[in-house]
Amino acid sequence: MVEEKYANFTKGLVGAIGAENVLLDDSKKEPFRHDASDYVGEMPIAVCRPGSTDDVSKVMKLCYDNDIKVVARDSGTGLTGCTVPVKDSIVLDLTRMNKVLEVNLPARYVVTEPYVVLDDLNAQLAKDGFFYPPDPASSKVASVGGSLSTNAGGMRAVSTGVTRTWVLGIEVVLANGKVLQLGSRTVKDNSGYNLTQLIVGSEGTLAIITKAILHITPIPEATFRIGCYFKTDESNGEATQNILKTNLQVISAEFLGESAMAAIKRNRANIPFPEGANAVLMVDIASQKAALDSEVERAKEVLSKSNPVFMEVTTDPAKMADSQIFKVRQDMYYVLHDESQKLHQSLIAGDVTMPTTHLIDAIREINALIDKYKLNMTIFGHIGDGNIHHSIIVDLKNPEEAKKADDVQREISMIAVKYGGSMSAEHGIGYEKKEYLKDELKYRDSLEVLDLFRGIKKAFDPKGMLNPGKIFDLQ
Ligand SMILES: Cc1cc2nc3c(=O)[nH]c(=O)nc-3n(C[C@H](O)[C@H](O)[C@H](O)COP(=O)(O)OP(=O)(O)OC[C@H]3O[C@@H](n4cnc5c(N)ncnc54)[C@H](O)[C@@H]3O)c2cc1C
Repeated sequence: MVEEKYANFTKGLVGAIGAENVLLDDSKKEPFRHDASDYVGEMPIAVCRPGSTDDVSKVMKLCYDNDIKVVARDSGTGLTGCTVPVKDSIVLDLTRMNKVLEVNLPARYVVTEPYVVLDDLNAQLAKDGFFYPPDPASSKVASVGGSLSTNAGGMRAVSTGVTRTWVLGIEVVLANGKVLQLGSRTVKDNSGYNLTQLIVGSEGTLAIITKAILHITPIPEATFRIGCYFKTDESNGEATQNILKTNLQVISAEFLGESAMAAIKRNRANIPFPEGANAVLMVDIASQKAALDSEVERAKEVLSKSNPVFMEVTTDPAKMADSQIFKVRQDMYYVLHDESQKLHQSLIAGDVTMPTTHLIDAIREINALIDKYKLNMTIFGHIGDGNIHHSIIVDLKNPEEAKKADDVQREISMIAVKYGGSMSAEHGIGYEKKEYLKDELKYRDSLEVLDLFRGIKKAFDPKGMLNPGKIFDLQ
């Protein structure tokens, strides 16, 4: 259903990009009110599916002229409410813009449209022995446009950094429909303020990304994985620090804490664990064929110091990709989501980060909070770069429980900040973390950052029409 006052506007949309690319029925628009968080957005006026930059520009111009808000969307896996529609908005669904436009191996870049799924891009690049490193656990479905807009992290961040490290340039459409080319096709480019990097991570609040120029790199010659099963979380923290102290090329270090292992045992009973194993660390290391055996031995020796109850080494890439325990780590969101659905409760996907030297203390403090608040909480994540996910399954309809969940989130956020990290490692802010962002800025005596954010927003988006109310309040 479209309200009468929007009739001319929607007619304009249909004229601009075709009736088949403008969804107006509530039943068709309903799925677009959701992302992977528990936030439910407003019913959008329309869902527009542009097929080209020119289409995006036409839609934006119409929205600008009619004071309509715009929420961009690629795969919709945002975890903070960043992708859900706001009042009086359209959803700009970019899934028709799904092509890899150029692969340039000697210059080591690719050019893609926004809705290229990360795993599909890497499957294509792997044929030539290259890859694009950012790998959020959602890479099976998450896309280039969405992952740039949230500056997604992932497992390999410990070795190859987060998404922004790999973005050379972007094509964007501004709120008024103007198309701009930002950055270049080169690694070196010092030409004034870096607007590309300002837009990366801006959650659709500054401009619409319609193309991306991404740096790529060769796949390491050999890799191996050591899975260490421990009795306690503490050993996870200690073993991570020990392996990071070496000059071994750690690609990723992923952990499942005691609470996460308990959740897996509850929800995925078919997954076998060695006797006495309550926590797991999986370390992937890049090597060269000639050095593989000696590096495996060196890594085993280092990790053994933390007394694992069981260790397994995998050097076969196919077996690594097929590993049940690694897959369940990647799928932790779904494990917990299933449980939350069964309990008719909500899932909050917490996400803090800190220097790895503070992990042992931080994990101890977070576990103490799990005991204190008696919430259904689990910890797991990308321990190699200090990123801990603390997921909470909670009945948010119960005010007391909702308050407890908020209180514990705030306390965990401040543990991360106190140790020199942040309350948001990789998921971004969206709606969920706006207050925690303020806490962090207050702690650093830097609340004025929000005024600078507002100034930047105004410069890009003077009418405040791009995903307003996400990250920070406009006033
Ligand atoms: C199972 C699961 C695992 C996850 N694991 C990780 C992880 O390991 N690391 C991590 O960082 N995140 C993770 N996430 C969060 C999420 O997958 C990432 O944020 C992802 O990068 C979002 O991509 P998307 O295509 O789904 O974006 P969307 O959800 O479609 O959009 C995300 C944000 O970007 C904006 N946006 C989308 N496209 C554009 C565009 N073209 N131009 C401008 N703005 C745009 C949207 O408005 C929204 O604010 C996970 C999520 C799930 C469900």
